[in-house]
Amino acid sequence: MNKILPVDLTRQYKIISQEVSEAVLEILSSGRYIGGTAVTDFEYQFADYLDTNECIGCNSGTDALYMALRALDIGQGDEVITTPFTFIATAEVITRVGATPIFVDIDAATFNLDLDRVEEAISQKTKAIIPVHLFGQPVDMTRLMAIAEANNLYVIEDCAQATGAEWAERKVGSIGHIGCFSFFPTKNLGACGDGGALTTNDPAVAARVKMLREHGCQVRYRHDLTGLNSRLDTIQAAILQIKLRYLDRWNQQRHEAVSYYQQLLQSLPNIQLPQAMSGGKNVWNQYTIRIADTGNKDEPTREYVRTQLQQRGIISMIYYPLPLHLQPVYSYLGYRVGQLPTAEQAAREVLSLPLFPGISFEELQQVAYGLKDCLAFK
Ligand SMILES: *Cc1c(COP(=O)(O)O)cnc(C)c1O
Repeated sequence: MNKILPVDLTRQYKIISQEVSEAVLEILSSGRYIGGTAVTDFEYQFADYLDTNECIGCNSGTDALYMALRALDIGQGDEVITTPFTFIATAEVITRVGATPIFVDIDAATFNLDLDRVEEAISQKTKAIIPVHLFGQPVDMTRLMAIAEANNLYVIEDCAQATGAEWAERKVGSIGHIGCFSFFPTKNLGACGDGGALTTNDPAVAARVKMLREHGCQVRYRHDLTGLNSRLDTIQAAILQIKLRYLDRWNQQRHEAVSYYQQLLQSLPNIQLPQAMSGGKNVWNQYTIRIADTGNKDEPTREYVRTQLQQRGIISMIYYPLPLHLQPVYSYLGYRVGQLPTAEQAAREVLSLPLFPGISFEELQQVAYGLKDCLAFK
């Protein structure tokens, strides 16, 4: 029996290997390895894809988020509202600029920020909200933008897991003040290494980010801001141009794989399947089920299921086992266990099954039958 990995990137590489080889060799032989038209062309094409005025490539999704906060002058004394159920990078950048993250609980059905609680968490110090379109599922941006406008707040969309997702027929990353993207290889649009981008319609933000990513300078060797070195690598930009042309096709393949999972896995006891919310387009970076944490010894726990799947050659993942408000690094913020119960329960119950463009129907079946099998045998 074949082992089924959570993500197998060789499937997409096989389809584009010829194009990628040619593009990479062209750059290698050009002798120009930083900047150049590969980067500016990709920035232009990505902005066009999302329908934003500006796209600034950078080194990672984390740097995009960090530069977003810096460009908006958010720092010491400011509060930024975000979700505790996300990758650490979302909150890390808030504390790195000296601001305070305010974690609010999530919605159980979407794993995304609970917008009722966002409203309750707004204070005099709040400057921005960072919604995360987690696992590819878009946040209700219509409502979030209304909340932000009523309270004069910036919205920085963390689109790392949602390239190509839409809310109300607009691509995420084009709705808030700033969109932040990651091109980490396993994201929907992934490079062959690190990469990221920031998008905006605000020319002042774009100008500041362009300075920040090049050591805070606009004119060479004159530094106006404390910046960083965060460029989008030329070779990665060339690869991303190729992959961008396949993105919609690959997102469609994710969608088809998910439809098949939904069909195969319906009505299993104690298993809750993910749902795409109406009003948006989910691009399924992850297919994340929940295994009810009932505390009943006769029912299979998540850990049991995960081990059993592994014995059948199926590797599943837990995103994320510990919500950010309970991370050791944030103990100084004083959150307690039980304070954000929906996120904490999600952390105990979630299990992401293998999903990637090019996964076969046989593999999806193997995962589904494996899951049914281990639930039945307990
Ligand atoms: C991957 C990810 C990031 C960080 O992106 P990098 O490119 O790895 O720095 C930020 N936020 C979320 C939600 C992510 O999944």
